[in-house]
Order: sequence, then C-alpha cells, then structure tokens
Amino acid sequence: MAKAAVLVGEGLVEAREVPIFEPEAGGILVSVIVGGVCGTDLHMINRLANEFPLPIILGHEGVGRIEKLGPGMDRDHAGETVKVGDLVYWSPMVACNQCYTCTILESSPCTHAAHFAEADKPSWCSHADYAWLPRGMSFFKLPDGVSTDAIIALGCALPTAVGSMDIVGGVKFGESVVIQGAGPVGLAAVLVANVSGAREIIVIDNNLKRLERAKQLGATATLSLDELTAEQRKQATLDICGAAGPDLVVEAAGYLPAFPEGVSLGGHAGRYVVIGLWGEAGDATIQPRDLVLKNMQVRGSMAPRPKHYYRALHLAARMADKVPLADLITHRFSIDQAANAYKAVESGEAVKVVIDPTIS
Ligand SMILES: [Zn+2]
Ligand SMILES: [Zn+2]
Repeated sequence: MAKAAVLVGEGLVEAREVPIFEPEAGGILVSVIVGGVCGTDLHMINRLANEFPLPIILGHEGVGRIEKLGPGMDRDHAGETVKVGDLVYWSPMVACNQCYTCTILESSPCTHAAHFAEADKPSWCSHADYAWLPRGMSFFKLPDGVSTDAIIALGCALPTAVGSMDIVGGVKFGESVVIQGAGPVGLAAVLVANVSGAREIIVIDNNLKRLERAKQLGATATLSLDELTAEQRKQATLDICGAAGPDLVVEAAGYLPAFPEGVSLGGHAGRYVVIGLWGEAGDATIQPRDLVLKNMQVRGSMAPRPKHYYRALHLAARMADKVPLADLITHRFSIDQAANAYKAVESGEAVKVVIDPTIS
C-alpha cells in the first residue's frame, strides 16, 4: 500500500492508504518526488470545478522517478529512450485523438479527456507516493542534473503561460508586455516574456512579495493594485510603453475586474490573452468600441497541450541557474500534512506550495 492525499468530500482532505498498481501496456509507474499544489486543486476541494465522483486523489503537477515500465514502453513522448530510475514530468491529460477537438480542430481540451479516477483505482495524480500514468499520457524525461524543485516551482503554470502566449503569436523581440497577476501563471508569463526578448515587462498585483519575485524573473516594472488607481496604472503603462500602449496584455489574475482593465490597458494593434478567469463566473463590463478603435485582439486560453509541457520543462531546466526558480517554493508539506498545504495556498501568503512524499 502507498499513501495519498484524498479528497473525500467538499473541503475535506485525508491522507489515506491506497493500492499500488502494475503499469499497463504503454504506461508507466512513477514514484512521486514532488507534487505541486495549484489553484485548480482548491477549486476541486471547494467543489467549484466540474462534478466528478469522490473520493479522488489530488494533484496534477508532478515530477517523479520511473519505478516500472509497462509492456512495450521504452520511450518518452518526445521519443527519447527511458529506463527505470529516470526522472519524468507529465502532462496530466490523455487526449483521445478521436474527437472533433483533437482531430479536426487540433485543439484542447479533448472532449473525452480522462480526468480523475476514484482513489482506489489506478491514478496519475501526484499528491501521492506513486502516480500511475496510463497509456497515452504524455510524459517527458528531465534533462540530466536539473533540479526537480526548479521544474515543479511553476508546475502547470509554465506550460499554461507557454501555451497561452503561443496562441497569441508569442512575444516578439522588443515588444512590451503587461501581466495582470503575479501568482504562478503570472510569474511564468514573466519568464516567457523575458526569454522571448520583451523590451518592457510590467506586472500588476497587490502583493508586494509576489511583485518582488516578478522582478527576479525579469519584470522591468511593477504596479501595485492597492497603491495606484486604475487611471494611474494606465498612465504608468503608457509612460513606460509609449503612447501606443503594450503589444501584449496577459490576464493571470483570476479576478473579474482585471478583464475591463486589461481591455483598457491594451495597446493599438495589441493582443490580450485571458487565462485566469476560467473559474470566475460573472459579468464584467467593457466598452466594445475600445477593441475596435485599437484594432485589438482578445483571446481566451485553457488546457495547455503536451508540447507546451515539453517546452516548459526545457525552459525551466535552462533557466534554473539563471533565475531563482526553485526558490519560488515557499511551503513544503508531507502527504500527511496535505490539508495544510491547500490552506497555505488559500491564505495567499505562499508563492508555491508543494507536497513532498519523501517527508514522513
Ligand atoms: Zn494546475
Ligand atoms: Zn479527443
């Protein structure tokens, strides 16, 4: 038997004994080294996400070591040879490659994506001693010598930022970027803008500690939500970017009023990608003529694809020694203490919280 953090009811998480399963053909069994906690885990705990049967194991961000290869398994999903003992990072969704979204639209999320298995069944979830990756679940071998903390520090946030910025044409050399929110997705967007050669990277948040982290990852300016009015933030953005405004605005705030502000901040011929509002039902008022007069593009984005996990993995590995990625982890809990890990995320004090099954 192994241990796992199990969601048993709304707001109720318990550390439980769960069975260990043999890998299936084309799958692998992984011992989890570290599992990231993400805002989505809180949505699930508070039953705000889609309905699914309980109990389930939590966690969709993981780095682990291959314990067993299923029959016929000898490569990762980028075609690299793997063996028992290799470290891997996985994309927590299996696309069916047999639905309209997968095949015709070549988009995500897959209409038939397998999400969560009940806790006593094989599960790929990462807040556990073992993750059972089914056939078709993309996983990638870590480059040699890379810190597992540096990879998990931005967890699913880095693939999310990579995929979302990709969708709006990426960040071109010399462009200016405004990022709303300095949580993990916002910080990941800072890193992507930085390595893409952005001229200015302006980050807006109310948490000064997070804004400080944003500067460490490459933000050139930060604007406080508390200390400046919306008009002052707009003026500061124009002062920094020039009268045409920013080329790209990234919403990673998960806060409805960010949307009208993002439209207002958007530049001429600019792009605005909305990522964080997936869990925020409700209305927000904009002046549609703002979009027309600025020739501005607005695009929503969710569910990064395996290629974004692969690129994020290699980006984090390459930048791990250049920016303090692993240091983004502020809280580390054992599986037994998992309930406290989710509370730490909810409190807003943490930058990144992880579950470390090696802590007993
Ligand atoms: Zn996540
Ligand atoms: Zn599909």
